Amino acid sequence: MNTATVAKTQAPDVAGQITYAMRTMGVAPIPRNYQLFYEAYIGSNPTLTRELAALGNRATQRDLDEIGAKYFANNPGGVIEGAHSRILAELDALLKVLKQEQTSLESYNRLLGETYSHIENRSQSSADIIQNAIGILSEATGRTMAHGQRTVMNVNQRSAEMDQVRRELDEYKRIANTDSLTRLSNRRAFDDRLASIYDNPMNVTLTALIVIDVDHFKRINDMFGHPVGDKILASVAGVIRSHLRKEAFVARAGGEEFAVVLEGNTAEEISAVCERLRSAVEATPFRNSRTNINYGPITVSIGFCMADQANDPGELYSKADIALYCAKESGRNRSVQFSDEMKKEFTKGWLIYK
Ligand code: GH3
Ligand code: MG
Ligand code: MG
Repeated sequence: MNTATVAKTQAPDVAGQITYAMRTMGVAPIPRNYQLFYEAYIGSNPTLTRELAALGNRATQRDLDEIGAKYFANNPGGVIEGAHSRILAELDALLKVLKQEQTSLESYNRLLGETYSHIENRSQSSADIIQNAIGILSEATGRTMAHGQRTVMNVNQRSAEMDQVRRELDEYKRIANTDSLTRLSNRRAFDDRLASIYDNPMNVTLTALIVIDVDHFKRINDMFGHPVGDKILASVAGVIRSHLRKEAFVARAGGEEFAVVLEGNTAEEISAVCERLRSAVEATPFRNSRTNINYGPITVSIGFCMADQANDPGELYSKADIALYCAKESGRNRSVQFSDEMKKEFTKGWLIYK
């Protein structure tokens, strides 16, 4: 008997069973391992399940990652989501049918009851026969209803279990898309968001990509050490997040660079938003609360590009980056919108953006 089968018989629910199987095999409870075991559990790919079971209790992270790379190479992260939404959709549909069935049976039973008392009152000669027939039918219907109710309860219970799985998977997904240092979206989530900008042509006109880079950050690290640099990065992230509306997409695109996607604003409005972010960072005191050492002033340079100034996500990011480069070149601590003249000027010596 393989580990997955053992787990199925002993653990109380799907999430519990997966976690149990992982624990039994000594596998670290991290999202990508959970994803593998989830797929093995639902049996989406029998070869995957076999390979995973073959690892026995000596599975190293490397073995697991190799299997993961093999099966999820073309769909990182999406597999879990697809699988659990399929299961939930099926359950929802089943639940709907059963509830409809129960409602129609209830009204059927009520109707029979009413007919029964109606005939009883009229005391016609054929009433006995009809009463008998209806009595039998009514009893049968009652039994069916009880059966239906039990089934609905059963399905409700399964649905609650699936809700639990959904909550856990949502949490894993959130972790997989979050940068642990700043709590902002991470690069992976940013790539997804960037790729989706051109999905709906209606949205392109008033969408902007803003890239923000901390000025001379290397000096901060050199002067105060990397751990202080980390704290400052997290603080800068907090300042940026708190000066944007809730719907704004804010990510740490890498290193000391942040990216914001905003919808529904003109270039003039975005320019004002960038200025607000720039001056908010500049005005923030970055101090060690214990020693009172002042790490500041910390400033950022900002480049932005409206989505309708580019034709695809790659071009949009490049152009926002060119604007950022321009902000750096013209003295830092400023924000700049991309323009075509800028591109011509900067592409001369910058092959990467040709
Ligand atoms: P510029 O104004 O041109 O952007 O100068 P800069 O020094 O910020 O730019 P550069 O790209 O030369 O250096 C970026 C530095 O950011 C180098 C790297 O050590 C540091 N850095 C990147 N990621 C992290 C991080 O996660 N934590 C810390 N503490 N430092 C980081
Ligand atoms: Mg920098
Ligand atoms: Mg940088």
